Amino acid sequence: MNALSHPSASGTLSEQLDLKSLGHELYAIVQDLYPLCRSITGEGLRDTLRAVDRVAGVEIHEVPSGTRAFDWTVPKEWNIKAAYIADVQGRKIIDFKNSNLHVVGYSTPIRKRVARAELLQHVYTHPGNPDWIPYRNSYYKETWGFCVTQKQLAALTDAEYDVCIDSTLADGSLSYGETLLPGATQREVLISTHACHPSLCNDNLSGIAVAALLARQLRTVRTRYSYRFLFIPCTIGPIAWLSANQPATSRIDHGLVLACLGDAGGMTYLRSRRATAEIDRAVQHVLGHSGQAHEIRPFSPYGYDQRQYCSPGFNLAMGCLMRTPNGEYPEYHTSADNLDKVRPEFLADSFAKILATLCILEDNRHYVSAVQHGEPHLGRRGLYDKAQEFGLFWLLNYSDGQHSLLDIAEISGVAFNKLAAGVRMLQAVDLLDEATPSLAHVNTSER
Ligand code: ZN
Repeated sequence: MNALSHPSASGTLSEQLDLKSLGHELYAIVQDLYPLCRSITGEGLRDTLRAVDRVAGVEIHEVPSGTRAFDWTVPKEWNIKAAYIADVQGRKIIDFKNSNLHVVGYSTPIRKRVARAELLQHVYTHPGNPDWIPYRNSYYKETWGFCVTQKQLAALTDAEYDVCIDSTLADGSLSYGETLLPGATQREVLISTHACHPSLCNDNLSGIAVAALLARQLRTVRTRYSYRFLFIPCTIGPIAWLSANQPATSRIDHGLVLACLGDAGGMTYLRSRRATAEIDRAVQHVLGHSGQAHEIRPFSPYGYDQRQYCSPGFNLAMGCLMRTPNGEYPEYHTSADNLDKVRPEFLADSFAKILATLCILEDNRHYVSAVQHGEPHLGRRGLYDKAQEFGLFWLLNYSDGQHSLLDIAEISGVAFNKLAAGVRMLQAVDLLDEATPSLAHVNTSER
């Protein structure tokens, strides 16, 4: 049984959700993906994408190692079977089986006896929290290493150890998952989330889970926009995708990069580089009307993949939506970003806010009031009592073909979804008409 509510009677995008069962379903995806050892390439990434495919239906693409993408080259593919640090009696002290964070991502293969001093040059800890394993990788510099707790490090007192990393670093490919859900027009909304972190829940499984169920939800309804979803390794993934799909980016009108959506913190939104794009205003509206603590920040070329989508040659209208941002919660990039860090209710709350944002994009249209001289007599039409709640006089006054519904929401302070309901009431009594459709390239194909 689909955890999401059924689409509205008209089959269009609806904000009505069963948040409780949705939260559990999102959390179940996080649990399912938690054990996999993901990286920017390799079987752990592919297994993750296959799991996303089972939920959301995505095509898995492969970009061969060595492919040039702007200033970058797709790296070799990394895979790992096992890794450990053992004492000379053969007792395993650190074992990759216990946590895939124990190995520095992209570690080159090694199997040898090393002196303690040499080993310690390849061992990393999180000094602030003696029980946490840090997350590290070395994608573009060939080396090997282990990440351990401070306590495990303190116990490494023998003169020599046997180290083994049974990994391969060889020509292969970079995988990513993509799906395009066609809408009434070919104009697109792009939802992108990174899919390359190993056992880390808030950064990164929360974004994967939310994006996967969003894709599944959007697949069941008719939309105005076409929706493209990317489940893709950080940095090199979007760079490779943008490089191969440069002409298609002209169809992207709005987008969101999703990450860190499952923790207890309030929502944080990083604006697009354009700062006041429709997506920026839509998110600001949803968060502003949520009655909950949130923060809206300017664009930053640090953090997640908005760095690529908002690079000046593309400058797409894409912001980054998170709860507590990367690097701003203590468990970030450590073993403590685990199944306790994310909760079903916060995953569901993030999902609901994104869906509300997409509803604004879908319904943000221009209308023309049938009565331009004096206000129409609402009492005669049985609507006077609803005027306040649904902003009917705001709608009638500002529906001059120049102001969008979001403009009117911002001017009036009335919530967008109330205004959208008000539009339907006024249309039902022939007081409001949609202005000339603002979207070109109408796609006649049916979903
Ligand atoms: Zn990260």
